[in-house]
Amino acid sequence: MIPFLDLKAQYAPIKDDIQQAINRVLESGQYILGDDVAAFESEFAGYLGAEHGVAVNSGTSALHLALLAAGIGRGDEVITVPFTFVATVAAICYTGAHPVFVDIDPRSFTMDVTQIEAAITPRTKAILPVHLYGQPADMDPILAIARKHGLLVIEDAAQAHGAEYNGQRVGSLGTLGCFSFYPGKNLGAYGEGGIVVTNDAKRADMLRMLRDGGQARKYHHVLRGYNYRMEGLQGAILRVKLRRLDAWTEGRRSRAVEYERYLKEADVVRPVEMPYARHVYHIYAVRSADRTELQRTLQTYGVQTGIHYPIPVHLQDGYRDLGYVAGEFPQTERAAREVLSLPMYPELSNIQVEFVSAAVHHNVHHVHAF
Ligand SMILES: *Cc1c(COP(=O)(O)O)cnc(C)c1O
Repeated sequence: MIPFLDLKAQYAPIKDDIQQAINRVLESGQYILGDDVAAFESEFAGYLGAEHGVAVNSGTSALHLALLAAGIGRGDEVITVPFTFVATVAAICYTGAHPVFVDIDPRSFTMDVTQIEAAITPRTKAILPVHLYGQPADMDPILAIARKHGLLVIEDAAQAHGAEYNGQRVGSLGTLGCFSFYPGKNLGAYGEGGIVVTNDAKRADMLRMLRDGGQARKYHHVLRGYNYRMEGLQGAILRVKLRRLDAWTEGRRSRAVEYERYLKEADVVRPVEMPYARHVYHIYAVRSADRTELQRTLQTYGVQTGIHYPIPVHLQDGYRDLGYVAGEFPQTERAAREVLSLPMYPELSNIQVEFVSAAVHHNVHHVHAF
């Protein structure tokens, strides 16, 4: 069996370092925020080339607070895509603002930048691109449109730790960048976690207050805040793992090169790395006109797959009151029908990639079984 994801394979070689980090936190008594979280914030911001990092308890919380720190609230509109994990849109709704969707580019799976300007109204406050699957959205046109119309850009980089747009790491390109450290992400905690990064010191201060009950100092609540604090253990664990992120990214990129080679003749559309992008392959999604059949075939060979995501956000029952209907975002709806995510993680072996690819070709006879 080849699993879709194998988190235990990543843990084994770093076990000693992780246990040391955990023991340090347990001995320190700093179980919420504390020195390790503060150190992780500056190390992660530094890794991206950004000034400030504010660690929180999930990627969803990061998005929620980034929107609040951008001054977004009731009556405002935020432009984003319906082809994303639901949290992108949920966070906009938490603030009372209205998500306004534009379709995706079918090659990159990210925001179709040619559709943004038509979606801008006097109520638009921000553009929220998603670096889906680890591929950066086309940021230059997005930033230019935002500048022209006086809008902020908030990046959803939850799937794109270390991805680059024209040589610059994503999350540091807009006014605010949001990451998730959900265990399955490219940089994952051993629990929930997230961070907002920014170069704006005032917004960083506001984020620090908002995550901690809105307090400027103990029991002085100058804002209506939340309990979105990161745990000390997660900060210490993420510091250990951040040091390996680039090596893991190289592993993912090598697996993508191998898939690209083995799947050349297969009847699927392979992912495209856009000319401006350094893709980090959080997800390796192929397209198939008969996705159900392909998934079933792979299952019979013991290959686990995933679908990211089968229902676009504008067609989810929970978001029906946004007023969108089927047919409005044809590229998103087609992608939702066709994409299939193949196993992708740094510890995957070349022979496993060859086996998965052979299964896609319905021809595994020449590859060793598992
Ligand atoms: C994972 C993810 C989130 C939410 O992160 P959580 O840590 O699960 O709250 C938001 N947006 C995208 C695109 C994601 O993949």
